Amino acid sequence: MSKHLHKQLRTQLIHAGSPRFHGRIAPVNVPVVRTSTVRFDSTDAYDDLHHRRAAGEAVTSYGRHGMETHRALEDAINALEGGTRTFLTPSGLSAISLTFLALLSPGDHALVSDSVYAPLRRLDQQVLQRLGIELSYFSPGASHVEEHIRSNTRLLYVESPSSLLYEVLDLPRLAEIAQRHDLILAADNTWGSGYLYRPLQLGAHVSVLAATKYISGHSDVMQGAVVVEDAALAACIARTYDNLGLTISADDAYLSLRGLRTLPVRLAQHQANALQVAHYLQDHAQVQRVFYPALAGDPGHALWRRDFSGANGLLSFSFREEEREKARAFVDALKLYAIGASWGGYESLVQIAAPARLAEHSYLAENKPVVRLHVGLEDVRDLIADLDQAFRTVFR
Ligand SMILES: *Cc1c(COP(=O)(O)O)cnc(C)c1O
Repeated sequence: MSKHLHKQLRTQLIHAGSPRFHGRIAPVNVPVVRTSTVRFDSTDAYDDLHHRRAAGEAVTSYGRHGMETHRALEDAINALEGGTRTFLTPSGLSAISLTFLALLSPGDHALVSDSVYAPLRRLDQQVLQRLGIELSYFSPGASHVEEHIRSNTRLLYVESPSSLLYEVLDLPRLAEIAQRHDLILAADNTWGSGYLYRPLQLGAHVSVLAATKYISGHSDVMQGAVVVEDAALAACIARTYDNLGLTISADDAYLSLRGLRTLPVRLAQHQANALQVAHYLQDHAQVQRVFYPALAGDPGHALWRRDFSGANGLLSFSFREEEREKARAFVDALKLYAIGASWGGYESLVQIAAPARLAEHSYLAENKPVVRLHVGLEDVRDLIADLDQAFRTVFR
């Protein structure tokens, strides 16, 4: 497969890992190579591969490191993120914990934007604090980020757009600050999934992904990835990654690779549907505010236009009515949106944003109930009709 012909990202995603010919034919798809160990053709090969692995290279010397299926997915995610090294992890959360455990030591401090994926706070309280690693949270919209940097700050960790409310961060500005203070900048890029947003190109050193969401795209895989460009950083993460024994199955690697083939078309349709839903909600008398960066009125719209190539199917909205029971009744009245966490699959989902989570976000001023929708790939007319009947049922 001639690599030079495949420069555009969409093309790369279609052809990543394309198997070699054996004789005159080759399969279209990457084989699912299930193996718990690997065979070497000589003791020299055994020594060579073990040494290279120990030195931090992405080579296989044991089943835990995976073979063709894993390499193909790593290559595709590298292409997606503009990285040189991808570490595949068994969930998005384990990609986050790998990032913190690999980059920080006892006595170190990390500065974290206050609107990150909420389970990070539990990792902080229940694991990192126990290890003597300190995290503090800052409001990314405030101008005085630098005031929170301490002499022991090593890591600036952010998520853009943020969880639940999609606050768009000025990543290039944060990258400048990180550089000035010699900090590592890591960004959770699950929302952008590499295709809509490329943190490594905007100055971040580490991009963290929950492949569980849009990359696999079919609600049938739990998976994460940590992506870096810098070789020293890759070697540092490789040590912790290997010592923690993190790995994923070849079957799951295959499913994500299959999902990646259609990521651009799925995202385009999610965005088209979500934009229509967002406009419908924006015009609704019971809706206070719609949170969706692709909407012209969203406070993050200008940054989104500057730094992103598109949006996805995630949006939230707040009710005018303060009564929480009404919001719950609304969610219960929906028929096409399944009540559940997560997002990024083909199907529509709905969830009430927990007030305790929202209270942590400095971005939200009001105290109205907030509902998050994942707008799936159903016909958008049906999705809007469902919202409409739920509004009419609850707010007669
Ligand atoms: C879902 C999610 C994660 C965690 O991914 P899991 O695979 O569910 O562990 C991390 N970050 C963000 C922004 C997410 O939405």
